[in-house]
Amino acid sequence: MSDIPLPDNLHPETLAVRLASERSQYGENSEALYLTSGYVQPSAQVSADKFSGEEDGYTYGRAGNPTVSSFEMRLAALEGSEAAIATSSGMSSIMLMLFSLLKAGDHVVFSQSMFGSTIKLIGSEFARFGVESTMVPQTDLAAWQAAIRPNTKLLFAETPTNPLTDVCDIAALADMAHNAGALLCVDNCFATPILQKPMDMGCDIVMHSGTKYLDGQGRVMAGALCASHSLVNDKFLPVMKNAGMVLAPFNAWVVLKGLETLDIRMRAQSAKAHELATWLEQHPSVARVYYPGLQSHPQHALSMKQMSNMGGAVLSFDVKTTDPVKARERAFHVLDSLQVMSLCTNLGDTKTLLTHPASTSHGKLSEEQRQVAGIGQGLIRVAVGLEHVDDMKNDLQRGLA
Ligand SMILES: *Cc1c(COP(=O)(O)O)cnc(C)c1O
Repeated sequence: MSDIPLPDNLHPETLAVRLASERSQYGENSEALYLTSGYVQPSAQVSADKFSGEEDGYTYGRAGNPTVSSFEMRLAALEGSEAAIATSSGMSSIMLMLFSLLKAGDHVVFSQSMFGSTIKLIGSEFARFGVESTMVPQTDLAAWQAAIRPNTKLLFAETPTNPLTDVCDIAALADMAHNAGALLCVDNCFATPILQKPMDMGCDIVMHSGTKYLDGQGRVMAGALCASHSLVNDKFLPVMKNAGMVLAPFNAWVVLKGLETLDIRMRAQSAKAHELATWLEQHPSVARVYYPGLQSHPQHALSMKQMSNMGGAVLSFDVKTTDPVKARERAFHVLDSLQVMSLCTNLGDTKTLLTHPASTSHGKLSEEQRQVAGIGQGLIRVAVGLEHVDDMKNDLQRGLA
């Protein structure tokens, strides 16, 4: 769809503020919100040409919307992909990808530390339709290689992961996928294109939950896939038109405006997370901090190289004690003592959000499965927002002291 004419070679920060669908005849400076499910056609012939694909243009909300197109163009510009397709949530973008690329008998290799619903969607739901899959340890390249079979079509990684911030080598996985004739998808939710551009490292598809940092203020659900024109137009769009997991125009507008401040938010939140992680690491009541920006992180060097020398805005820490019952009590005490920050299952908000993974996102696992995953009862995840770091420290100190 046509966009506002802009000079070539603008920087991503500029495109994040400027790139959008054409202005309407009213010349609005802030992008218009087109709340419409249908589009009036000037003639029966034009309508026929649009439906047959001979002419560009909007026909019906499930096939496209100018506000949604604006969001897709901006996100593609930030990720450095040829195109993007927006969906109703992060999970529906994964569903769209799997539906579009796989059939019964195909095989997927994915990391065992991915987002919980991603594991369920591939390992349980798509398994019902004959899609095979193998889970591998996130950081073990040899295990990824060993899991590849002749019918492997997709490698799927998330980096850094939730909540332990494991990092994997995107360029190495891209090579591995391509040597096997498969595609690599990276869930870039935690790093965002401000820290990490998987397309530049050879990745084929970047997946986003727009619910997180792209919106950035915890308001709406959204998702997207960034990829080549051919993947978006020939694979994803035809399935989208029939399956209908479209992003609502209002939500697209919110996330579109969120992208305008993504760069400054990510830099500020990452810097605050680094300061908080450094403080926590020295705290006598804290056993361990998980944060890619710290020297103590097992993949610190790779993280800094891959994530523009930033650690991101999510960190986790273990309260100090070896007794699992006490650990849970202590973690709960820290969370129940908060007066400023929120106990809230989300991330990517300007408000700092804390969770207890063992009783929420990883609550359905057995204690043994949790041990294997490294999710202890004393683990707390902090998705750092924009409050003053001293206020964050004081809020945690209440429960840690
Ligand atoms: C939240 C999240 C998702 C799912 O996105 P929704 O918008 O909640 O559907 C996928 N991956 C990661 C890493 C997430 O944090």
